Amino acid sequence: MQLQKNFSLRKHNTFQVDAKASFFTEVYTLEELTEALDFAKDKNLSYFILGGGSNILLTQDFKGIVIALRLSGISEQRIDENHIVVTAKAGENWHQFVRYCTTKNYGGLENLSLIPGNVGTSPIQNIGAYGVEIKDAFHSCKVLDTLDGSVKTLHVEDCHFGYRDSIFKNSEKGRYIILEVSFLLTTDHHQISASYGAIQQQLEQKNIKNPSIKDISEAVIAIRQSKLPDPQITGNAGSFFKNPVIPIEQFNILKRNFENIPNYPSHQEIKIPAGWLIEQCGWKGKTLGNVGCHPLQALVIINSNGKATGQEVYNFSSDIIDSVKEKFNIQLEREVNVL
Ligand SMILES: Cc1cc2nc3c(=O)[nH]c(=O)nc-3n(C[C@H](O)[C@H](O)[C@H](O)COP(=O)(O)OP(=O)(O)OC[C@H]3O[C@@H](n4cnc5c(N)ncnc54)[C@H](O)[C@@H]3O)c2cc1C
Repeated sequence: MQLQKNFSLRKHNTFQVDAKASFFTEVYTLEELTEALDFAKDKNLSYFILGGGSNILLTQDFKGIVIALRLSGISEQRIDENHIVVTAKAGENWHQFVRYCTTKNYGGLENLSLIPGNVGTSPIQNIGAYGVEIKDAFHSCKVLDTLDGSVKTLHVEDCHFGYRDSIFKNSEKGRYIILEVSFLLTTDHHQISASYGAIQQQLEQKNIKNPSIKDISEAVIAIRQSKLPDPQITGNAGSFFKNPVIPIEQFNILKRNFENIPNYPSHQEIKIPAGWLIEQCGWKGKTLGNVGCHPLQALVIINSNGKATGQEVYNFSSDIIDSVKEKFNIQLEREVNVL
């Protein structure tokens, strides 16, 4: 195990904020991971498992060991004429993995193209985009149970997936380290999900009537590139907040004052786009000091000039939460993991 001390995490989080870890190591095998965890235990240090760093906000130095998971490899198992299980190790880059699948014409993950981060993190918040969530194609995942050091396999029913949610984020937070994830994908008779307005527009522009897996992936990539800031250039972590889900009674009261409030039914409740709420409070495109709200997508907070600290970003997000609460009496929840 190679240990680095007093290590800058700037290049390891897409917000590009500078914070230091007392110790940093990259692990390529289960044995190295176990060694790093033992080191933390022996030294009485806390540890943090790092994937691609695209869903974290570092507000201070980390006084412990950051363990970057680099486990790699992809394997396949044919199930029947129309299905295949594809398994990727936790350290595989998510988009490269999706590309691997779309290139082979395996269907199920194409709407999730270009989401940053690693495969091992994808179940944690049940990543989703353009009408699809990973739970729709999830088969199982192999995890290290830190309670007893055993390796277990969890299936979809064990993971309690919800909107940007799972046991990994909630009831069992911190317990499991995900080592690999398997997806059940179609090899023929694909169920194309193209009902999302922006995807339809893209396909119409290209005059595509019967889209293939690759067409959907390319449409999603084009939409994302036109709407979202590239974290390689402008520091950000994608959607900073979850879309709030409120009771119907509360929604009916709001509708009296805000006639045009956009809304979507969500399991007997109503989901409101957080970006709309934030925009209505005047934040879209606004910059305070080194931090800003993206001019095209109000849900995205950006490190405007690369000089922001995590604490500045956090304070900016708190101001947004306060103003949405004041105007709409809705409590926004951060999607990003704050450290
Ligand atoms: C530009 C941009 C666009 C985005 N768009 C979307 C989107 O459309 N939909 C969406 O859902 N998300 C989106 N995100 C958020 C992000 O890409 C996902 O949440 C992604 O899954 C995070 O992966 P990561 O490897 O970077 O996680 P990290 O930021 O490294 O880690 C996130 C959390 O998971 C934990 N963790 C990491 N790996 C493991 C593991 N193997 N086992 C256990 N715990 C682990 C970490 O400790 C941390 O708490 C976007 C982010 C950006 C920057």
